[in-house]
Amino acid sequence: MPYRGRFAPSPSGHLHFGSLVAATASYLSARQAGGDWLLRIEDLDPPRTVPGSAEQIVTTLEALGFEWNGSILYQSTRVEAYQAALTRLLDLGLVYPCSCSRSELLSAQGASKPGGTLRYPGFCRHGPRQRFPVEPMAIRLRVEPIPIPVEDQIQGIRIFDVAGKVGDFVIRRRDRLYAYQLAVTVDDAAQGITHVVRGIDLWDSTPRQMILQ
Ligand SMILES: [Zn+2]
Repeated sequence: MPYRGRFAPSPSGHLHFGSLVAATASYLSARQAGGDWLLRIEDLDPPRTVPGSAEQIVTTLEALGFEWNGSILYQSTRVEAYQAALTRLLDLGLVYPCSCSRSELLSAQGASKPGGTLRYPGFCRHGPRQRFPVEPMAIRLRVEPIPIPVEDQIQGIRIFDVAGKVGDFVIRRRDRLYAYQLAVTVDDAAQGITHVVRGIDLWDSTPRQMILQ
């Protein structure tokens, strides 16, 4: 299969150094393999998108000599594809609405873990826990307790317990925005991405995206 890599920054500010490292590594990997390197702007979250930042990132990449194949994919133009994926998951019975607020989930766990991922305890698995839920609700994916092996050329193979560590995760947020995990999985598939080179901060996200795949 021909190598197709990508760089997918969020336009939430300037291209910072960590992103530049990820861009360089993914670019060189793709070019070394004689493959394509695509650029995707992950501008799916309007509250976090800084106006002008997408253009600034593109200009910076151009100035540094990066050359991408094809046109830039903007996630803000892809809502229909995410909706189609969600509809398919609904039809398959793999997702459910969740009425829990963040504060309810925090108090259920006794203590908050700032910055950490909270495991969703599955309160709404058999129907929204609130008797009269406030619309709209978040949509969660049912995660089965199956170990997920992830293979990485630097980290090696690691087995993730998504059900135990993360639980059923959100694929469409309460504010009706599609979650990163769903959007990135749909777009990687649509763009035929074969290899992902990215920062280790996204290592824990990989098994969630593999479950969605
Ligand atoms: Zn819930």
